[in-house]
Amino acid sequence: MKRHRSAQAQLKAFVRSIEVTLRKEYGVPKVAPARTLLDALVETILSQNTTDVNSSRAFRALRRRYPRWRDVLAAPTEEIAATIRSAGLANTKAPRIKIILALLQEEQGRLSLKHMGRMGNAAAMDYLLSLPGVGPKTAACTLLFGMGRDIFPVDTHIHRLCRRLGVVSRFANAERTQDEMASLFPKGRALSLHVNLIRHGRQICKAQRPQCGGCVLAGMCDFISALNVTGGRGASGPRATKVG
Ligand code: SF4
Repeated sequence: MKRHRSAQAQLKAFVRSIEVTLRKEYGVPKVAPARTLLDALVETILSQNTTDVNSSRAFRALRRRYPRWRDVLAAPTEEIAATIRSAGLANTKAPRIKIILALLQEEQGRLSLKHMGRMGNAAAMDYLLSLPGVGPKTAACTLLFGMGRDIFPVDTHIHRLCRRLGVVSRFANAERTQDEMASLFPKGRALSLHVNLIRHGRQICKAQRPQCGGCVLAGMCDFISALNVTGGRGASGPRATKVG
């Protein structure tokens, strides 16, 4: 038990050092706040499995065509799907958005998530996860960007970096990485670590050809050290001793 606590403390220190290194490299991220929490949730649903550019275009088209959420609720699902087509999976996302709006109208008597302001982080996560089409990443993004809560979402870039760096096992799936990072990210730094890891994943630690030669994290990365030591077989488990 004591050994486990010590390994966990070292991992936390390691993740803190990653956050500090990326913050020095990229700065403190500034993110425009969503107008309302419901806006943040719908924007995040639209962003599933697509790029930021495509999902932003779909959200703007949705709000242009339906200025009030009650207009979306009243619209035919096929018409909503046509409006958000640029986000992809429109025939899945449109009915989900409509069902969430209908649930809010029925439960709260209004199309708003303001009642979540009274909830703690765990209750807010549980509530969002109970909505159709809302998984851990969507719920965490909604709370981080819509409420400014210190909750750490794991997307595909972050999942890849966490495995390569040795924060989690390279065999971990996305859900496992999300679970583990919930207790590993430095408190008060969820936004900085989330945004800067994604930026690093897009620009440097790309899925196909990571640019390890120009990477500020190279000195603390399992992926590159395994390449050097094993000739490319790679590391397999989360580190327990190395702290950057
Ligand atoms: S050293 Fe390479 S694999 Fe490791 S984080 Fe940097 S780019 Fe990614």
